[in-house]
Amino acid sequence: MEDAVRKLLDAASREIAALGDDLKSLEQVRVRYLGRKGELAQLFKQLGKVSEKDRPLAGKILNEAKVSLEGWLNDALDRAREGETDRKERFDVTIPGRRPLRGRLHPITQTAQEISRIFNWLGFETVEGPEIELDYYNFEALNIPKDHPARDMQDTFYISDDVVLRTHTSPLQVRTMEKRRPPIRVIAPGRTYRCDSDVTHTPMFHQVEGLLVGDDISFGDLKGILTIFVHQMFGPNVGLRFRPSFFPFTEPSAEVDIQCVMCGGKGCRVCSQTGWLEILGSGMVDPEVFKMVGYDPEEITGFAFGMGIERIAMLKFGIDDLRLFYENDLRFLKQF
Ligand SMILES: [Zn+2]
Repeated sequence: MEDAVRKLLDAASREIAALGDDLKSLEQVRVRYLGRKGELAQLFKQLGKVSEKDRPLAGKILNEAKVSLEGWLNDALDRAREGETDRKERFDVTIPGRRPLRGRLHPITQTAQEISRIFNWLGFETVEGPEIELDYYNFEALNIPKDHPARDMQDTFYISDDVVLRTHTSPLQVRTMEKRRPPIRVIAPGRTYRCDSDVTHTPMFHQVEGLLVGDDISFGDLKGILTIFVHQMFGPNVGLRFRPSFFPFTEPSAEVDIQCVMCGGKGCRVCSQTGWLEILGSGMVDPEVFKMVGYDPEEITGFAFGMGIERIAMLKFGIDDLRLFYENDLRFLKQF
């Protein structure tokens, strides 16, 4: 009996050592040695054949063998299971999560969306057009012929004689009127380009164009709509004034000033001590522009306006340097 037990333990210990962390094979070894019909159980069965005198000792040897074998196998199985878990998911649930950096909208985008929201609420539809534009839409159809001095006011990027990077969003007036019949109520936000770069100018900037065309549209409607816009954008107590001006594609034309949002109209550095800030250009659509798109100026009237989004954003957020918008400094951008 002693010999048989020693042989069994020898064989089992070698097998267990050879299997390492092979979990499946270790389970099989356990069943083979320790199972109900396993090799150890077979030896226990033979205990009946041992003489009564030797039986207690043989029983003790068998029991000790069983404890040893169980110990080795349990240790080996534990190691194997740990290894398995490690390989599958080396994962410490107590480590704090990695918080992803949250992006946010650029202040220019936020301002453009806010302007769109106000005009959408007033019934205007948002439209878009190409940034690479035909000279025809950027100038000629807006009553600015080739030799017109107004072209000198806009330092244009020419791609060819007939193709430019649009210098304003006003081409959308013509493009929209060509495609639709009145009544028309649209706004067109987008990028515009002029070869100009200094403290107050960047080669690329943003504008919003607005156009309202229909029967009996008057300058009073223009004043009403823009007053509502200013009060929504800058607060209900901000005063505004309309100043006569000139644009080739509107007649009469007016520039709109608002009371300085920095000093409340008292006069400061931002408003050059005048108490007023210019924010947009506007006017009644020139009859010549209506003729270009086949509308009858005797029957149809309308107004148009355009504003720089950077300008509105600077006044809204109190930013004093245009270049901050384009330096991609997160310390600046995170404030909005
Ligand atoms: Zn001021």
